[in-house]
Amino acid sequence: MKEFSISTNVFFGENSLGRLQQLNNKRVLIVCDEFMKNSGVVDRIKGYLDTCDVYVFSSIVPDPPVEVVAEGIRCLDECRAEVMIAVGGGSSIDAAKAIRELSCQLGMVKVEECFAIPTTSGTGSEVTKFSVITNAQEGVKYPLVSEALQPMVAILDPELVRTVPPAITADTGMDALAHALEAYVSTEATDFTDALAEKAVTLLMRFLPQAYKNGDDLLAREKVHNASCLAGMAFNTAGLGICHSIAHTIGGKFHISHGRANALVLPHVIAFNADTGACEKTLSARKYQRMSKLIGLPYANTVVAVNSLIRRIEEMKRAFGIPDTLKRLDVDPEAVKNIKDEMVQAALADTCTATNPRAAGAEDIAAILSEVTPF
Ligand code: NAD
Repeated sequence: MKEFSISTNVFFGENSLGRLQQLNNKRVLIVCDEFMKNSGVVDRIKGYLDTCDVYVFSSIVPDPPVEVVAEGIRCLDECRAEVMIAVGGGSSIDAAKAIRELSCQLGMVKVEECFAIPTTSGTGSEVTKFSVITNAQEGVKYPLVSEALQPMVAILDPELVRTVPPAITADTGMDALAHALEAYVSTEATDFTDALAEKAVTLLMRFLPQAYKNGDDLLAREKVHNASCLAGMAFNTAGLGICHSIAHTIGGKFHISHGRANALVLPHVIAFNADTGACEKTLSARKYQRMSKLIGLPYANTVVAVNSLIRRIEEMKRAFGIPDTLKRLDVDPEAVKNIKDEMVQAALADTCTATNPRAAGAEDIAAILSEVTPF
């Protein structure tokens, strides 16, 4: 028996922040980073909460480390909030999710309601049971997984992503694309998650280049924002694969943005999963073929279709200025060589590896790392 459900209520489009007006006389903790606080977004949110006592924890940094989560737990303990509102990119939303859950597990504060308001279009964290926390000393990113981490309400307001600069639009958009494509071929993929992944990829292929070129194109922003959320819903049930496992270790060790690390690895993982040299056509190759057909790429046979999908992703990366090797991202190949075994083991141990469609061993992960780190 399989199950598909979406427990987060999603409000989207113009005026969706208005949902916050239903919060009356509550103690509310807003979790965000300094940019959100200083850019006026937090004040805008406060404007909907005039009957509430509002506290702000604005210490979140990209790839939130354990120490920031601990600081957030202390802040929640002091203000005893009943409602948490995470506003920002995946880092703020993930940190808020971890703060809320760990605080509850430690018997400190039980937050009744948790809102997630994404201001980047990529992670889908507003609708997932995942939270990625970083151990900065060891350079390891830990994906926490629990139904309890799932936000109750997600608000998708495209106006909030208008200010995302082109490079972050590109990186986060490629993260969403990786979510959809990994969920699509995952061992846990179903008709339900496929439908979400197909729509997400279709929207991203059409609108991500537009959003990158013109950040004020609100239609493109809205479509990419929705696509990111759809991709989140897809992988929340279907899981991901080794693109994410490898991206987590690259991000943890070399502080490369999560989306950029995914973009770097994705084409190589598609080639590995499709395994077009195998005697029999793999399911992944057939699914990539279906996706190529759907987005208007050549799809005459699986080899043509897989290659055209990979080429399309490489073209997007070039257009977005995303480099195709770690060296071009200023990582010394020698540094990778020195810790390659450790990175391989981290990727193998990552929860995302379990749902990769093709079983990957240490030598496969090492080969993909070599592809992005030519010596
Ligand atoms: P981020 O949250 O780290 O933000 C990146 C930068 O963008 C920050 O400097 C932030 O201030 C800025 N920013 C955010 N919104 C902005 C806006 N509207 N205008 C201008 N600047 C803005 O980046 P992200 O890619 O959204 O999140 C990455 C994190 O999410 C990583 O830690 C990754 O591992 C995690 N992640 C989680 C999930 C999940 O399901 N929980 C999935 C994928 C990734």
